[in-house]
Amino acid sequence: MRPVRFNIHPKEADIADAISMAPAPDGIGGEGFFATQLSSVVGLARKNSLWPLPFATSCCGIEFMATMASHYDLARFGSERVGFSPRQCDLLMVMGTISKKMAPVLRQVYLQMAEPRWVISVGACACSGGIFDTYSVLQGIDQVIPVDVYVPGCPPRPEAIIDGFMKIQDLVGQESIRRRNGDQYKELLNSYGIQ
Ligand code: SF4
Repeated sequence: MRPVRFNIHPKEADIADAISMAPAPDGIGGEGFFATQLSSVVGLARKNSLWPLPFATSCCGIEFMATMASHYDLARFGSERVGFSPRQCDLLMVMGTISKKMAPVLRQVYLQMAEPRWVISVGACACSGGIFDTYSVLQGIDQVIPVDVYVPGCPPRPEAIIDGFMKIQDLVGQESIRRRNGDQYKELLNSYGIQ
């Protein structure tokens, strides 16, 4: 029988210094005013309130569960609201092996998400098919949808998933509110056959 351990000497958390405000964007401040770009304010709000949609098909999904649980706690980044309705989420997190039969479903979920939307590919399987170089497995989800951040590993530890998440936050915070209407973005979607 496996021994059960309890933490009988819990360490007191020093929460006074553990809570911090998100840093303000670059701008000009003075007595009673602060001026900055609209994109920076929108980016600040978006990056700290991402709503993930976990598309977990296998073992990497277990790492995501650990990432959401109390020890790593993705909620610290403003993302405790995990959703399974694509229209209400803005971050698609793909974790696990994606078979070719599953690819159209993944693509449909992506299409149902409203703009702006971002995608993280978590783990070797989602990024490149991983060890499953077979006829039935999609060799990377970027064959069917555009990906913003790739997290390597088989499986990646929660620290790596959080690192990828923070990379997405950087992208989101710096993104111009006009990017989605630009020719470059339309070209990217067109390359995937998305209008
Ligand atoms: S990358 Fe490794 S851990 Fe993740 S789904 Fe594939 S086989 Fe499982």
